[in-house]
Amino acid sequence: MNIAVIGTGYVGLVSGICYAELGHRVLCVDNDEAKINILRTGGIPIYEPDLLELSIKNAAANRLEFTTDLAYATRHAELVIIAVGTPPLPSGEANMAYIESAAREIGLSMNGYKVICVKSTVPVGTNDRVRSLISGLYDGAFDIASLPEFLREGTAVRDTLYPDRIIIGTDSTAAAELLTDLHKPLTDQIIVTDIRSAEMIKYASNAFLATKISFINEIANICEKVGADVTEVAKGMGLDKRIGSSFLRAGIGYGGSCFPKDTKALIQIAGNVEYDFKLLKSVVEVNKHQRFSVIDKLQAALGDVLGRSICIWGLAFKPETDDVRDAPALEIIHRLIELGAKVQVYDPIAAGNFQAMYDHPAIGWCSTALEAASGCEALCLLTEWKEFAEVDLEQVRSVMIGTVLIDGRNVYDDLRVKAAGMNYYPVGRSAEPVQALKISK
Ligand code: NAD
Repeated sequence: MNIAVIGTGYVGLVSGICYAELGHRVLCVDNDEAKINILRTGGIPIYEPDLLELSIKNAAANRLEFTTDLAYATRHAELVIIAVGTPPLPSGEANMAYIESAAREIGLSMNGYKVICVKSTVPVGTNDRVRSLISGLYDGAFDIASLPEFLREGTAVRDTLYPDRIIIGTDSTAAAELLTDLHKPLTDQIIVTDIRSAEMIKYASNAFLATKISFINEIANICEKVGADVTEVAKGMGLDKRIGSSFLRAGIGYGGSCFPKDTKALIQIAGNVEYDFKLLKSVVEVNKHQRFSVIDKLQAALGDVLGRSICIWGLAFKPETDDVRDAPALEIIHRLIELGAKVQVYDPIAAGNFQAMYDHPAIGWCSTALEAASGCEALCLLTEWKEFAEVDLEQVRSVMIGTVLIDGRNVYDDLRVKAAGMNYYPVGRSAEPVQALKISK
């Protein structure tokens, strides 16, 4: 099949490359010339494990091309997939400008029957809007389908090639058949539904996962006060199949380009039909406060942070990505600087993106974890990169001038931290938990 994918961000690029890997001929389009140049010269503009190898392999097999020419790509495709960004407006609503502009360009380029798919996360009713924009510019036949994306940055290739499910929202049998055939090699779990339900499934899924995170973070905050250990609580809860263990890891809350924006967008979608989504509003509120628990713990440990040197490990919103959009580190570092602290930061991959988004003379940009810790009174771990989990804490302690370790992701074991001579502040568990009884059999 000839496929055009519009937008070569985290979603469009991964999807396009993976469709090529399935043997289809894919044209990936972006209006950012710099990105297309990187792709054409054998690179990738984002950090995503395994993606570069697959891109090179499929480009060499002549199944994958990159272009800024949306009209050319559309004309050559039977299936056109829109995967442009839907960033938040100040109101929380999704900004539809990129979707609408892509739809208009597609409408102007149509040269025969095609299926037009929206993979971007979009408010209910957007596919209908895309349909009307295209039919205003093209009077031939075409079909519309919603194809929401569920990949996670950091494991995006695996998630795309081995998805839990594929959701196809369409009112056209031809589109349903074409998209089912496309995804059949990936999974048996293909759900064909109406367009609006497909659009809602995406928001509802992200809102539910965000709710799980805020829920366990609230439990963690109570655990800290009553002397329980949230990691034990989560383990005990997660073994119940009705609950499940994923997304029950307490920490400093969710960030990234999806959960913060999609939860706020769903609150707005509900508000537009005069429904007050109280539960989701609380989820957002809890998450907003949770990231600042790092600062509360720093202040509890150090007193005032004015003039103190603080090390920050991790800038990306999660490990294995260079994405810093709405990363907790942005607000935490900004607040620390407001409070007069000096920060030394390190991230294995994301420092460049972070600096492009937020820079300040009070930030020291370091090229190793040890360099960032050097001379600091406290260390805050904000992203659970493997490199931080495996670090030699005694060596870290030896280059610091203080002993405070705030573990925003519950990466360490308190005994290991104590053995390194550091004072440990994890999330939702006391640094010295009550020892479990050992039952001899
Ligand atoms: P992104 O910002 O990384 O990429 C979007 C790309 O679209 C950019 O490269 C931009 O230059 C390009 N673009 C915008 N308008 C264009 C046009 N008219 N023609 C050609 N290119 C154009 O965004 P992303 O993270 O890939 O997300 C895309 C969509 O997928 C969003 O709606 C997002 O909510 C959703 N989504 C994202 C993820 C994720 O983990 N990033 C997961 C699931 C769903």
